[in-house]
Amino acid sequence: MRGLEALCGNGSVKRRLSAGRGLSHAYILAGPAGCGKRTLAAVLSQALVCSGPGEVPCGTCSDCRKAAAGIHPDILRAGADGKELTVARVRELRGDAYLLPNEAGRKVYLLENAQTMNNSAQNALLKILEDGPAYAAFLLLTDNAGALLPTVRSRCEGLSLSPVTPTEARDWLLRRFPDRPREEVLAAAGRCEGVLGRAVSWLEGDGQGEVQDAGARLAQLLLSGPEGVLLEACVGLEKWEREALGELLDETTRQLLRALTAGADPRRVTFLTGRLRQLRQALAYNVGAGHIAGWLCAGACPASPLSFTTETMTR
Ligand SMILES: [Zn+2]
Repeated sequence: MRGLEALCGNGSVKRRLSAGRGLSHAYILAGPAGCGKRTLAAVLSQALVCSGPGEVPCGTCSDCRKAAAGIHPDILRAGADGKELTVARVRELRGDAYLLPNEAGRKVYLLENAQTMNNSAQNALLKILEDGPAYAAFLLLTDNAGALLPTVRSRCEGLSLSPVTPTEARDWLLRRFPDRPREEVLAAAGRCEGVLGRAVSWLEGDGQGEVQDAGARLAQLLLSGPEGVLLEACVGLEKWEREALGELLDETTRQLLRALTAGADPRRVTFLTGRLRQLRQALAYNVGAGHIAGWLCAGACPASPLSFTTETMTR
């Protein structure tokens, strides 16, 4: 299969798709947000509708060009708004699947946030996966394949995307942003934890989005973990410049306070914002980012045996 270079890293997925066994009629593209699910879905849907000769997608036939422009009438999308994919919506798609394709040889249904389907919606989908017309193809995108019923999973080929290595991220981002200052691109590559979607949105935005993004994520991890991911995120903070780290701590505090109105445990929020205030003070005392990161992680767990006071931090 061609066009897979658009996806960074993920060699095993690329090898499987290039193995030349032809395309499956249903795939589950799983992996955390920003790992390239949409990029891969774009390549796959183009390959499915391509009418050119030879290896697909040819990139030049009218089907490929329409697919690339996002205007192919036989590529149908659902779930991109992040709202629940309801049973009514899935039944609508099922009805549509029995209408012959408009232009291509196949019809592609691209379902984002597939994990939002409840059991009835998934069972409705299962019916078309099992008995639908042969030209209908399904791409289910999800950050949680475990939320899909085993019956649905067994009908689809699973493609599991993962974060890329720092070297892969760097090389890919340098190619994607040739005009941006090298240091900026390298900094984003270093901080994105292998999740390129994050680095891309930072580099495409004005840089402000990065602090907001990272603050929201950190606040969420501090509130509900999982601890292993929080630990990784804290280790990642070592790469932040002092000034940006200060902004990040402030943003995290703002996000935690915002979480209160969304029903977060007030005692936990008070505890965490107190810790963040202490770290902010420590930062002003020239304590290094690495120490701040370590203290944040240790201090975030109430059961942590480490004493955690501004006094020990500034000593
Ligand atoms: Zn083509």
